[in-house]
Amino acid sequence: MKRMSLKTVKNSFLILLSMVLILGLIGCNKDEDGGNGESKTDLNAVQLYKPGTYNGEAEGLHSKIKVEVTVDANSIKSIKVVEQNDTKGVSDPVFTTIPDKIVQGQTLKVDAVTGASVSSKGLLDAIADALAKAGADVNALKNKEPIQADVAKEAVVKETEVVVVGGGGAGLAAAVSAGEQGAKVILIEKAPALGGNTIRSGGALNAYDPVRQPKIEMNQALINELKDILTYKEDQFGEYASTLKMLKGQIKNYLNKEDTSKLFDSPELHMIHTYIGGKRTGLDGKKIWGKFELVQTLAKNGYGTIQWLEGNGVGFGDGIGTVLGALWPRTHHSTQPLATGYINSLEKAATKLGAEIMLNTKATKLIMENGKVVGVTAEQSDGTVVTLKATKGVVMATGGFGANPEMVVKYNNYWPDLDPNIKTTNTANATGDGIVMGEEVGANLWGMGFIQLMPSGEPETGALSGGVWGSAETQIFVNKEGKRYVNEYAERDVLAAAALKQRDKTFYIISDMTALGNPKMSDQTNWGETYQSLIDRKSIFKGDTLEDLAQQIGVPVETFVKEMDKYNTYVENQNDPEFGKKNFGAKLEKAPFFATPRTPSVHHTMGGLEINEKAQVLDAKGAPIPGFYAAGEVTGGLHAGNRLGGNAITDIFTFGRIAGASAAGAK
Ligand code: ADP
Repeated sequence: MKRMSLKTVKNSFLILLSMVLILGLIGCNKDEDGGNGESKTDLNAVQLYKPGTYNGEAEGLHSKIKVEVTVDANSIKSIKVVEQNDTKGVSDPVFTTIPDKIVQGQTLKVDAVTGASVSSKGLLDAIADALAKAGADVNALKNKEPIQADVAKEAVVKETEVVVVGGGGAGLAAAVSAGEQGAKVILIEKAPALGGNTIRSGGALNAYDPVRQPKIEMNQALINELKDILTYKEDQFGEYASTLKMLKGQIKNYLNKEDTSKLFDSPELHMIHTYIGGKRTGLDGKKIWGKFELVQTLAKNGYGTIQWLEGNGVGFGDGIGTVLGALWPRTHHSTQPLATGYINSLEKAATKLGAEIMLNTKATKLIMENGKVVGVTAEQSDGTVVTLKATKGVVMATGGFGANPEMVVKYNNYWPDLDPNIKTTNTANATGDGIVMGEEVGANLWGMGFIQLMPSGEPETGALSGGVWGSAETQIFVNKEGKRYVNEYAERDVLAAAALKQRDKTFYIISDMTALGNPKMSDQTNWGETYQSLIDRKSIFKGDTLEDLAQQIGVPVETFVKEMDKYNTYVENQNDPEFGKKNFGAKLEKAPFFATPRTPSVHHTMGGLEINEKAQVLDAKGAPIPGFYAAGEVTGGLHAGNRLGGNAITDIFTFGRIAGASAAGAK
């Protein structure tokens, strides 16, 4: 929905008036031409449609969108979406909000949903197709102002105990957890639907898991990595020295006394991976690493977070993998598609606990009284001004700034020559609002210059979807010369930096049937697209042999085949002497073979409002700002220079839960 100030409301009224006049004039012309006294383009006149129900269809993001539209003589009565396979979660608001707006406004002049423009266009085209069959003047409908233009209503003032700003994973977790403490909660979300970037993610969650991990086989490459850790020197680990010492003890015990055929893990290993993965040097030469108390809170509470999510209706299977850049097999996935299970379950839980959820409501400013945050002001998409007073606290959970190119360019302190037009995996709503609002009340910004590029973005859109690959162990990356160029098990910044050095900044993820879990081509990938639809629109390539695949993607055939053969010997030996890959899946040998073209895109902004382990927002002196809490991507301090793949989902739910409880006053 379009947001309107009083001024724009006035302008809209003038536009509406002129549209009516113009339409009137068009009507007059038609009258003069046709002389039958009935204008087809006077959309407020009576006979606009042939009453009945009409089918319409058009291309969506992945396949056809089909609709059924029912009209009477002069109005659109209802719109039913009969079929659509667009990306789950991301495209959902398109199918819930656009039909309503068309019926309410009796117009096809409806804004696309931000972040889902292709699905929005597909749906509008399908509806237009049906309306054309009903005899409508589709062009006129596309230009017709809505019957009821958005007009600001009387200002809303409400009082509650906890206000949560942002309805992604962190915000919903905070709302549930504050509700569990008995607090009255209002959650505001600027988009027309909940989910944020969380719902666009793959939902991968890293945690030490004493139940599932011991069921997974260990392998020689991972044992070698544990042995490597035994050679690390405590004096190079700063405040993490005692963690490393404890970890070494655990590893020695495991290697000497335990069943080494089963996977090893511990919160301390997760901490050390997070610390090493996040320790980086900025372009300004300064070093950064994760704040100890935050890293410790993440790693020690990860399994508790899984149990808490399960208690709130999220399902988890037994599988454990390594999402790209996770560094160890501790990645869990919910049994519901992508991250939809998290969002839907937490929304239900929040509502059950009595939380009020206000959509289309954008926070604009924090309200301060005597140095304490006591509420927020917000504006709704129709311009209505909202003031929310919070007697206990405000939780900021507005996500990152990956979709705000100005902020990305302004703060970037990591990527030399960052292309300002680089695409993003983010929703258009990830604009850093919470960081700006927090800074206005004195919050310290931490690690703002460190921006994660997702190595494997879809080349056209930057999105995560539109491809196929397995876990990090099984992925093989080749460049346009048909050669491997990196350890595919490395951190994301290493992978992105290496990808940016390849020709056209492009590479292919190569996988086979084993890596993909032996799918049928009619099966859906994790992103809800069928393999066949991806092949048809050349988002992925399928070759019956490696030679066939190489030809299709245009890489030198002989080089590519040799490279894959060589890789298979590395798998056999559990050792990659060229790039040092640290963990291997099965050999690449089960046809057909697949290639997914990819290029880096902006994914996660690691910096933000500095918080402590209670999710209190800190000022420049390190003191908590009373009444102010934050969680999720809006915060800084945990991931530092590079976030491990799979750590964000653990972060948002762990710290979201803590923030909600802290704001509600839990001790
Ligand atoms: P996280 O993973 O940290 O939860 P998400 O991106 O998933 O982050 O969710 C953040 C949510 O906050 C998004 O749904 C986004 O639309 C919402 N949001 C961003 N800015 C505002 C704002 N000013 N007011 C209300 N909601 C906001």
